[in-house]
Amino acid sequence: MVLDKEYILELLQNVTDPEIPVISVIDLGIVRDVIIDEDSLEVVITPTYSGCPAMLEIEKEINNALKKKGINEFKITTVLSPAWTTEWMSEEGKRKLKEYGIAPPNPTNPEDIECPQCSSKNTQLISEFGSTACKSLFKCNDCLEPFDYFKCH
Ligand SMILES: [Zn+2]
Repeated sequence: MVLDKEYILELLQNVTDPEIPVISVIDLGIVRDVIIDEDSLEVVITPTYSGCPAMLEIEKEINNALKKKGINEFKITTVLSPAWTTEWMSEEGKRKLKEYGIAPPNPTNPEDIECPQCSSKNTQLISEFGSTACKSLFKCNDCLEPFDYFKCH
C-alpha cells in the first residue's frame, strides 16, 4: 500500500473529539503532523489539555480509523511541547463548536466571551470547571442560557 499524507489527513478528519462529537482532531489542531517515510507512518498528536482524559480515547479512535482502512503499521507519538494552544484550532472548528453550543476560545480577549445561542457578550463565569476540566461553565445574562466555554491555554 502506498501511503499518502492527504489520504491519512482525510481519514483523521473523521476522528472526532469524544467529548465534542462535531469537531475532528484535525479541526482541534490535535494532530500536529503526519510523517510518512516510505512505508512507515507516524501520527504526531498534542493533547489540548495536559492530563485530559479524552486523549487516551482519541488515540484509540485514531488507531481504529487507520486499522479500519487496513493500515496496521503505524506509530502514534504524543508530543507535549510546545503545548497545544487554541491558536491551532481551525476557523471551521470554532464555527462547529459554536453551533454545538460551546463558546469557542477567544485568545485575543479571553474576557470577552460570546454566548453561542444569541451572540451576546453580556455573559458571566459560573464555574471554572464545566462538564469537563477542559471547559468552563458560563451563563448568558441576556438569554439566560448556561453554556460551556472551551478554555484558552
Ligand atoms: Zn445568550
